[in-house]
Amino acid sequence: MEIACLDLEGVLVPEIWIGFAEKTGIDELRATTREVPDYDELMQQRLRILSEHGLGLPDIQEVIATMAPLPGAQEFVKWLKANFQLIILSDTFYEFSYPLMRQLDFPTLFCHKLVCDDTGKIVDYKLRQPDPKRASVQALHGLKFRVIASGDSYNDVSMLEEADAGILFRAPERVIEEFPQYPAVTDYADLRNEFCKASLRDLSPT
Ligand SMILES: [Mg+2]
Repeated sequence: MEIACLDLEGVLVPEIWIGFAEKTGIDELRATTREVPDYDELMQQRLRILSEHGLGLPDIQEVIATMAPLPGAQEFVKWLKANFQLIILSDTFYEFSYPLMRQLDFPTLFCHKLVCDDTGKIVDYKLRQPDPKRASVQALHGLKFRVIASGDSYNDVSMLEEADAGILFRAPERVIEEFPQYPAVTDYADLRNEFCKASLRDLSPT
């Protein structure tokens, strides 16, 4: 019994905040955990910038509705779902994810929640739990599943560490150098191959 755990942004869909920054021209919103490693500090900064520009959840949802999965992601998810139980472990928010998850045919998603007021202004956010990616893989182990995981950045490392096999996908060079124990691939055909290699079953990558 094997479960595939995938990160969302950078693996199946573009970085949502960067997409929003590009569409609105607000450069400050481009920052990710790569620039501001403290996630709470980064989120408070994002909420402050949104408030300064008078932007609320409906504005962000409108932009996200124009975004699409990365080329090849839909076919990859289809293959993965045919061969594994798939769970997406993401640091995004349910309120952002809907239009993109719809295009991926709604795989199971574990992520976080936003807190909005009546006007749609985002006033806070709620992390589901500390270190949710590691905790999710631990919980799946508790249910006696074997886990193969793939992600693109530092916030995925705890998930890769906890999994039975971890794969880096389109990771920045310094992440690849820092974690040489994980195979690193950049296209979906190679990612399929890595899932086949990591599986205990005899799977075909096509
Ligand atoms: Mg990512």
